[in-house]
Amino acid sequence: MIEQGTTVHHDFAIRSLTVTNRQEISPGFVRITVSGPELAGFVSTGATDHSKLFFADPATGTLTVPTVTPEGIKRPEHGTVISRDYTPRVFRDATEGSDAELDFDFLLHGEAGPASAWAAAATLGSTLVVGGPRGSREVPKGATRFILAADETALPALARWIESIPEGVDIISFVQLSNDFDAAYLEPAHVHRAKVIWLSKEVGSLERAIRNVGPMGDDTFVWAAGEATSLVPIRRYLRNELGLPKNQYKVDGYWKQGEPGRDHHLPIDPTDPED
Ligand SMILES: Cc1cc2nc3c(=O)[nH]c(=O)nc-3n(C[C@H](O)[C@H](O)[C@H](O)COP(=O)(O)OP(=O)(O)OC[C@H]3O[C@@H](n4cnc5c(N)ncnc54)[C@H](O)[C@@H]3O)c2cc1C
Repeated sequence: MIEQGTTVHHDFAIRSLTVTNRQEISPGFVRITVSGPELAGFVSTGATDHSKLFFADPATGTLTVPTVTPEGIKRPEHGTVISRDYTPRVFRDATEGSDAELDFDFLLHGEAGPASAWAAAATLGSTLVVGGPRGSREVPKGATRFILAADETALPALARWIESIPEGVDIISFVQLSNDFDAAYLEPAHVHRAKVIWLSKEVGSLERAIRNVGPMGDDTFVWAAGEATSLVPIRRYLRNELGLPKNQYKVDGYWKQGEPGRDHHLPIDPTDPED
């Protein structure tokens, strides 16, 4: 029997940080490292943790950020708040002689999105405003097998899953890529540990791969994240055909084709929302 991992809540903070490094980790991915005094107290221990990153309104060039008050989060009266969810990839606490640092890995998908455009242009000294994470959920307990499915946007979270799942627990992973060269995003040790199978962006390839795994007992947990619409058949298969209870799967729409800044809390399949 699988149990949801415990969620640890964090005090919500909005931090203004400075870019201290940028590194191309594959042709499609840039790792942006941020640092600064406001990073003190940052915590992120869960594989699916996410921070809200705030970006300037492309129409006005103005960065509008909410404030955290004792009464809650306050939106400013003027300006448009533009935020996107990103996975804190690695947090390195301060040590004697080095400041705390936090890495975010951005898929560069073009100039149309404020986040992708910002990451493409960010240089040392650029400012990045980071909200949260609000909490961290531990890996589900009791699973003897994890099936992980991701597109590029979910690769940072996939890497965190692989690092969080206890040794000895079986992992099978499917990753859908538009460009083969982005397979370089994952370290060989991750690819080996999680038995990563690379798939093309051909419609239905992720669903077929998951179907080919065959029957899933009550010891298997499935996580799938990526483009929301393409995940609908996968969720239907897990939930309706296999009848997995919700403690055995999590399907998360990380972005939606043609829908800028989509809220991932919205159901990916509005005809069949989560109970
Ligand atoms: C919990 C969570 C964690 C995430 N972690 C990461 C992460 O670590 N790294 C990361 O790169 N992304 C991550 N994402 C996805 C990221 O938030 C979205 O891709 C987001 O839409 C990017 O914002 P944007 O401003 O660049 O584009 P938007 O303004 O949101 O979109 C502009 C246009 O680009 C399209 N678009 C958006 N994303 C993509 C894409 N990946 N490929 C092609 N077209 C796209 C949209 O459909 C829209 O038409 C995460 C999402 C969630 C919900």
